Amino acid sequence: MQRLKQKIENEGVVVSESVLKVDGFLNHQIDPIMMQEIGEEFTSRFANEGVTKIVTLESSGIAPAVMAGLSLGVPVVFARKSKSLTLTDHLYSADVYSFTKQESNQISVSTDYLSKDDIVLLIDDFLANGQAVLGMVSMLEQAGSALAGIGIVIEKGFQDGGAILRSRGIQVESLAIVDSLANGEVTFRDEKAS
Ligand code: 5GP
Repeated sequence: MQRLKQKIENEGVVVSESVLKVDGFLNHQIDPIMMQEIGEEFTSRFANEGVTKIVTLESSGIAPAVMAGLSLGVPVVFARKSKSLTLTDHLYSADVYSFTKQESNQISVSTDYLSKDDIVLLIDDFLANGQAVLGMVSMLEQAGSALAGIGIVIEKGFQDGGAILRSRGIQVESLAIVDSLANGEVTFRDEKAS
């Protein structure tokens, strides 16, 4: 997605060889116009999958997920990050190791909002080693929901999450794939024009 790549080039900050900061439009301040375009792009890529619900992870997945939900016309559920070991009734949950925070979080979704009748599009802001998405996939399995596919705003192609998910036959659509952050520069993977 060309406009997203330009935005990353103009506003992204390369923090290290493995971390990209995009606080100016996605992770702290949010650019609603960019988010709307992202939502529409996800919609065009998953329009024929019969999606009934979008699931994301708080907090940075919510903005792109809501915009996709708006254009697909389906509800959006965000998994909560909580450390509670007790309140596990009526919850689907999974342990997720956070790449950026370097700690484990339990993520959960109420059993009220996911069921075996749902066909779910998972959306997240970044894909690195795949832990966040795999945690969400595990909750879908607990609920018996079907997985339509995964929509990612920025995939870091030099980490192995994308390969793990695609090797499982899952449709992963990343709107920008970063192949390298070496020397303080963002290098994108060549993709089909979008
Ligand atoms: P994974 O679970 O795939 O290893 O990492 C994905 C999660 O970690 C995303 O939900 C995102 O919040 C965070 N993350 C991973 N890499 C980056 C990065 O380079 N920049 C930012 N801002 N977040 C990242």
